[in-house]
Amino acid sequence: MSTVNSAQQAVELVANQAIDAALQQTFAVGGAIIDNATGNVIVAMHNNVLMPFPGAAQPYFLPHDPTAHGERQLVDWYFENRVAMNLPAPAQLTVVTTLDPCAMCAGSLLTAGFNVAVSAIDDYAGINYNSAFSFPTLPPAVRQQAQNSWGYYAIAAPVSRAYQGANSPVFSQQTIDSAAYYLTASIFNASVTTVRDASNNSGLPPAQLQNPATLPAHSKVRQALTQLSPYALTVTCPNPRDPGATLAQPLLNTAQNADSFNAVALLDPFGNLIACLGGAENQSPIKTAFMQTTRGYALLRWTLMNDPDPAVRAEAAQYLTHPKYGTFVFLYAPDPSTPQAVMTFGAYGSTMEGPVPQSYPSNLQYVLPPANTTPQQLATLAQSLPPFYTQSVQVSPAQVLDQGLIDAVKNGV
Ligand SMILES: [Zn+2]
Repeated sequence: MSTVNSAQQAVELVANQAIDAALQQTFAVGGAIIDNATGNVIVAMHNNVLMPFPGAAQPYFLPHDPTAHGERQLVDWYFENRVAMNLPAPAQLTVVTTLDPCAMCAGSLLTAGFNVAVSAIDDYAGINYNSAFSFPTLPPAVRQQAQNSWGYYAIAAPVSRAYQGANSPVFSQQTIDSAAYYLTASIFNASVTTVRDASNNSGLPPAQLQNPATLPAHSKVRQALTQLSPYALTVTCPNPRDPGATLAQPLLNTAQNADSFNAVALLDPFGNLIACLGGAENQSPIKTAFMQTTRGYALLRWTLMNDPDPAVRAEAAQYLTHPKYGTFVFLYAPDPSTPQAVMTFGAYGSTMEGPVPQSYPSNLQYVLPPANTTPQQLATLAQSLPPFYTQSVQVSPAQVLDQGLIDAVKNGV
């Protein structure tokens, strides 16, 4: 385990992670969990949204996991290892990152309760996109939490930025040099457009796609879908943007079997239910149903698209496409007063990673809002996200249209 003794050293350490990410052709962002009391670097990671398949002769298909941002991975790593490694509480640790966290990562970090220290600003998708430390996206109580536990390191001349933030992050009030800051900002900017395009354009449009409901039982694509979710290809909605009451049972049963309060289904452009997963909040508070569903489907595609058998790769490409052409259906929308809701809408944005084919209603739907919540509160949160989410992705959560589906869920049928 290495140790860092200053903000400069901490940023240089995470910048090295960002360089590794750039070499991997993914978003060039890196981060680390550092012990405030000792400066020990507990773990360092980088973005893995694009990643070569291990052991593949060449990286055929890089889109790996749209939620594999450095900070989100650090949060899950922490909850997987905190007992075995007897780690300090998140409030005694700082996630130091090269780039201001996106909405998904900000929501993840605030759910977990880490201190956060940042080098570069992301004025398009970062939670501090306006550089004002006012966090207009965050619900009021969550905003206060961020202002009490986050900081943006000071930068020496010629950039000359004052320290902005709380005193609780490790090396708070310290200054990094302009070279370290420029490295963290420019290496991300050099990567962002190509990685977004590679993610957003990674599947066939519906007109060129074949219907996976026609796949035979021995098809490896069908078997992989069934293994991910036993309800895969058991339900088809005539209109993929207007799911009906047949979706109630898979959603309710999945939530119950996962011992989770929620479940999220993904319908493909044919209206087939292709994935439906519950949350795993008992493992990590950020393993919500949406995170599990979008990640599970992405990992399934990444694995099949890199299968050693070219026939399997061809079948995966012909029958499975990007979720932007499908519909996500939540059993319950996230509670808009929580950091998990910011994380969820952010993770939806990261899943889309660019423009979504416009349709009514949108492809982000829920059966019921959580108790004491109105659809308007969910819309308000979506509209207050950083510019990437409102302008490029256009996150617009909507309640399902079918009253039969709403009634079936309310009645627990
Ligand atoms: Zn992120």
